Amino acid sequence: MTMNEQIKNLLGFLAKSPTPFHAVENIAIRLESAGFERLEEAKAWNTVQSGNYYVTRNDSSLIAMRLEQVGGDTGFRIVGAHTDSPCLKVKPQATQCRDGYVMLAVEVYGGALLNPWFDRDLGLAGRINIKTLSGSIQSRLLRINHPVAFIPSLAIHLDRNANEDRSINRQKHLPAVLMRTNEDQHDFADILKNWLVRDDPELEIDHILSFELSLFDCQPPALIGLHGEFIASARLDNLLSCHAATEALIASKNDVNKLIVLNDHEEVGSASMSGAAGPFLESVLSRLCKDNEILTRSLQHSMLVSADNAHAVHPNYADRHEPDHRPLINTGPVIKINHNQNYATNSESEALLRVVCEANDINVQSFVTRSDLGCGSTIGPITATRIGVRTVDIGVPQLGMHSIRELAGVQDQIDLVHVLRGFFDHANWPF
Ligand SMILES: [Zn+2]
Repeated sequence: MTMNEQIKNLLGFLAKSPTPFHAVENIAIRLESAGFERLEEAKAWNTVQSGNYYVTRNDSSLIAMRLEQVGGDTGFRIVGAHTDSPCLKVKPQATQCRDGYVMLAVEVYGGALLNPWFDRDLGLAGRINIKTLSGSIQSRLLRINHPVAFIPSLAIHLDRNANEDRSINRQKHLPAVLMRTNEDQHDFADILKNWLVRDDPELEIDHILSFELSLFDCQPPALIGLHGEFIASARLDNLLSCHAATEALIASKNDVNKLIVLNDHEEVGSASMSGAAGPFLESVLSRLCKDNEILTRSLQHSMLVSADNAHAVHPNYADRHEPDHRPLINTGPVIKINHNQNYATNSESEALLRVVCEANDINVQSFVTRSDLGCGSTIGPITATRIGVRTVDIGVPQLGMHSIRELAGVQDQIDLVHVLRGFFDHANWPF
């Protein structure tokens, strides 16, 4: 894939993946087009030999692997990333009629920056579970790509201090306008049914059982800047890394065991059946290693590169950064270090990553937070704790993390794919 194709492909993936369910579906399609075979966790894996495979859990997490040897102790080169992003999720009793409007009730998922959600053209997407007329229970993905909702700001005339001290009450201020009405009741399930039948006219729905839906910004991702050197999009944290991990795995050589693990629920602490604190990765590795002794030896020969975006220095808020650690956009991936273990990087894993970057002629930056500020975390330390694998936390530098529209660099995405592929293919591995 050329550079331009790679970026075009990323923008398409971001636009088509408003939720982790859609991201996993789109990555699965990409993997299958590259010859990866789908495995089911609920079936026997005794026919799995060397080759290319993938497996999903909860339709929202995915592990893809290129296997050279099954049942051996030579270890795995692993790249991790997360499929979820902060957003607004629809509450079970979704609609209320108020003051002439049908309003959509939402819950804040993860550490969303809430201000940018106002005055946006919002679509709706996620997973819906239905009962059909024949009695079967089915799970369907929905993506309403045109703006159906809007969270209007309060006019400045009604709040003269808005620019100085407006705060957001999550319960009162975030419900989204869906439509004008003079009724006092509204059936959201009917709308969902109509959308599903429009997508699949053969579908005979008896009723909607449940749903996990989120709002998303309909504005498509774009290349911006005088030279088109920036990528502006929702969910760059961390679909950019999911995309880079997938492309690096597909492009890598087939000579050692390698895999990517893309987990849901990082933004809410990772503790779930499909999150990094859950047993998904460990379960897959133990099935590949066949027994505990081999798994233990294998993990000692393994390494995880956890890829999750880092904070670039913001030119308008430069004092929020440690003065000597100020990552710049389009200047190479960032190694994230926190000796209190909010990041899992240690000097050994950092050294190995630096060797890979040197071998591939990629500049690398480092990030440490100011000593008087808290520090974020990611799946790296959680996975390291869960399975005991040496880990380095890296990521492309970006601005506006957790906004509805974030900013990253074109060159950084290209460099990230290059580094991850270099990690998969590096010949002189010391363990
Ligand atoms: Zn992240």
